[in-house]
Amino acid sequence: MTIKCDKCKHDSIIYQRYSGMHLCKKHFMEDVERKIKLTIRKHYSVRKNETIAVAVSGGKDSSVLLYMLHKILGERPDIRLVALSVDEGIAGYRQNTLEQAKGLTSRLDVEHIILSFREEYDRTMDEIASWEREKGTCSYCGVLRKSILNRKALELGATKLAIGHNLDDEAQTIMLNHLKGDVARMVRLVPPCELEGLVLRIKPLRYVPEKEVAMYAYLNGLPLSTGACPYAHEAMRGEVREMLDDFEDKHPGTKYALLSGFDKMAEVLAREMPIGKLANCRLCGQACSGELCQACKLLQKQ
Ligand code: SF4
Ligand SMILES: [Zn+2]
Ligand SMILES: [Zn+2]
Repeated sequence: MTIKCDKCKHDSIIYQRYSGMHLCKKHFMEDVERKIKLTIRKHYSVRKNETIAVAVSGGKDSSVLLYMLHKILGERPDIRLVALSVDEGIAGYRQNTLEQAKGLTSRLDVEHIILSFREEYDRTMDEIASWEREKGTCSYCGVLRKSILNRKALELGATKLAIGHNLDDEAQTIMLNHLKGDVARMVRLVPPCELEGLVLRIKPLRYVPEKEVAMYAYLNGLPLSTGACPYAHEAMRGEVREMLDDFEDKHPGTKYALLSGFDKMAEVLAREMPIGKLANCRLCGQACSGELCQACKLLQKQ
């Protein structure tokens, strides 16, 4: 016998163990959309005449992010949405996801700009990976991508830069920072973290579990599988992911508890440890806390 939705008489398609609810397609989609709208309203209110840059890799998370922002804000003539994709230069991987990003932006009729490591830094991730043995490719990739996105968003006059981090990503990052004792990084996770020279990063999917993002993408015909990046092996994050998945399995709601506990603590953190005024990088001029920004520091080492 099929199990019915707890909100109507239709068949359920998902059981949310953390909420104890069985939901049909309609009520599941409404639930995901409600969480996203609530996160935007609570943490990142959208004002009049904003330009919002959206980081779109072409994977499920960023596709759902763009789709939802377009659904919520697409009708507003005073809001400009611009999708930004970054081609890091990873052969056999990024081309596919970029094609998916292009397909989605043209389906939604959203302006789309593709940036590349080759043009910006004169080197590709494949080249960096072949030289860099010591620090881990993902650290390079993440820092360089953040920098290129921020620069372009500033250039566009964007007031927000939306990224597709979901609940699992956020819970993992919080736990990783705890395990590394990295309080400074935790302070920067506090939403909304506004710093002069850095476009405000917003994460509207932070209260949607990864599995539900995937299901929402599937139900709306959005890109789902993108294959794996050949460099994806940030060891400690993988261990934390397994640990949290295991906890979630035994104690449904663990990831939500970690995130909402952090949000409460974050208010105190932000008050007690305000982030100082940023300087400008001596080489590229981007806002940073030292003499050189992280991207220039990494590039200089090569
Ligand atoms: S897995 Fe690492 S190297 Fe690959 S795209 Fe992501 S951050 Fe870059
Ligand atoms: Zn229902
Ligand atoms: Zn710099």
